[in-house]
Amino acid sequence: MDYYIRYVDMPSVTKGMTIEDSDGFFNIYINASLSAAEQEEAIKHEIRHLERKDFDTEKSLQEAETL
Ligand SMILES: [Zn+2]
Repeated sequence: MDYYIRYVDMPSVTKGMTIEDSDGFFNIYINASLSAAEQEEAIKHEIRHLERKDFDTEKSLQEAETL
């Protein structure tokens, strides 16, 4: 599984998100304002989505979050 983790500023309610680009490469965006421990949790959370292949379906990320 190829992915790249980027730390970016985003609204505080969002801890992280994963976006698949057109090459099938996953970019995990983590909220830069979180503490180190929270960032670690957010990374684990996003990687869990990759492992469950949530992104192989037509579901949007928002829908995947509610599972
Ligand atoms: Zn999630």
